[in-house]
Amino acid sequence: MIQAVSAIIDGKPRQGSGATIAITDPATEATLCEFADAGAALVDEAAQAARRAFADGRWRSLPVERRQDLLRRIAARIEDAADELAAIETANTGIPLTQAKQRHVARAGYNFRFFADYIGQTSGTLYDQAPAHLTLVRRQPVGVAGLIAPWNAPVALGAMKLAAAIAFGNSCVIKPSEQAPLGVQRLVELLHEAGLPDGVVNLVNGLGHVTGDALVRHADVDLVSFTGGTTTGRVIQSVAGERLKPTTMELGGKSANIIFDSADFERALDASLLGIFTNNGQQCLAGSRILVQRSIADRFVPAFLERTRRIRIGAPTESATELGPVASARQRDRVLDYAAIAVADGGELLTGGRRGADLPRGYYVEPTVVLAHDPGMRVCQDEIFGPFATLLLFDDPDDAFRIANGTSFGLVSYVWTEDLHLALRAQELLESGVVWINTPMMRELRAPFGGWKDSGVGAEGGAACEAFYTRQKTISIARHPLALAALGRPR
Ligand code: NDP
Repeated sequence: MIQAVSAIIDGKPRQGSGATIAITDPATEATLCEFADAGAALVDEAAQAARRAFADGRWRSLPVERRQDLLRRIAARIEDAADELAAIETANTGIPLTQAKQRHVARAGYNFRFFADYIGQTSGTLYDQAPAHLTLVRRQPVGVAGLIAPWNAPVALGAMKLAAAIAFGNSCVIKPSEQAPLGVQRLVELLHEAGLPDGVVNLVNGLGHVTGDALVRHADVDLVSFTGGTTTGRVIQSVAGERLKPTTMELGGKSANIIFDSADFERALDASLLGIFTNNGQQCLAGSRILVQRSIADRFVPAFLERTRRIRIGAPTESATELGPVASARQRDRVLDYAAIAVADGGELLTGGRRGADLPRGYYVEPTVVLAHDPGMRVCQDEIFGPFATLLLFDDPDDAFRIANGTSFGLVSYVWTEDLHLALRAQELLESGVVWINTPMMRELRAPFGGWKDSGVGAEGGAACEAFYTRQKTISIARHPLALAALGRPR
């Protein structure tokens, strides 16, 4: 297992002198390693290193083919190190190893390949209508990006930010969650092993309100890409806003998964379980509110419960495990508290709501299902972020759309129906940045992924990242020598 460092600056590991932070394996509660919070001094060094790398053009001025080659080499290096990277991610987060390898690490490699291809096809705009001028609009990298990532999918989400930021020629400083920095730290090492010039990608590990805050405030950081909770997002956006730094905010969700009676029943059932219980339930895009049409509730609810009770909960390193531990004791207690809150608010606890059975150590929570009778209940409104499904029944499509839209969030929606016209109506009316129809989660990187309402500002994806990580420049060129008014010339 790798040892956490406080920072990687100009390609070199660094130790800081801030508060000691312990990293825990959520499956065993054992301390994996400790490191010192990077703090403002190392953030300053990291940001300056990124600025130097940007200013001297060691990366952004390379021919695009060389940058593409390197991004592809990085993807290959990630794929070669897939077992190692997945093992680190699993040990640090509790994500089942099979999911860490097949989804997170595979996606991390794909992110670099995707942006390698993307940057080979970008183009500017030409306006040639004016008789005396040609006007070009081109895009240039912004400078130094501050990238802040959460603990629930550090490698996949961190790789998305890194790939997008550097593909367009920027340098960056990334700060993973202090709770789960090991996978991102190894990822940054792999980038260097693949040949990325020093200083282009720098890492700082540490506390959000110390190291993260210093990064957002730093004068050399030109823009901030943040994925995390809505409350933190508000803080970061206001700090960045004072300095007029552009931000993207990928925030929380309480997404509706709507099962109409016209759905393909078995597929909707399979996908509903995947939607809430993969990644140990800790996904921004979890289908955590499962809205079931009343006419099929007698069939759907028992089937969902039976399958939930059969989910294999256990050590995330076991290949048979479907649900591992949640990421921390705090997260476990939060999920369990919501089982009690559901009952106090008049809901029915149908299964779960307890620590994982037969597992004396580790932050295990039984997969939990609650039936809510009022969409205003806290378990229908708050992002719980764990293996906790809230079921709600509805009578007709209008009822479903009203409930689905009745939260402060708007990240994604899932719709299950074989009725084409109903599906089209649903995508029209649902207030979320993404609508998935008859499919579980599907990240199409060419398309924007971003939330509405409290789920975010801006988006990630091909063109969305190009817009964020570059800035426009308009160049007007005279087509021929211009006849200019001759101010001050003797007449
Ligand atoms: P947090 O908002 O607590 O933290 C996210 C990151 O921000 C961490 O690296 C954290 O550091 C850092 N941070 C905290 N405070 C500050 C600050 N004042 N200034 C700068 N950085 C700061 O989120 P979690 O890590 O708890 O992640 C879970 C949340 O992420 C959920 O709400 C989930 O929905 C959301 N999420 C959204 C996704 C999306 O694409 N929309 C995808 C995945 C998750 P530290 O951990 O060290 O405090």
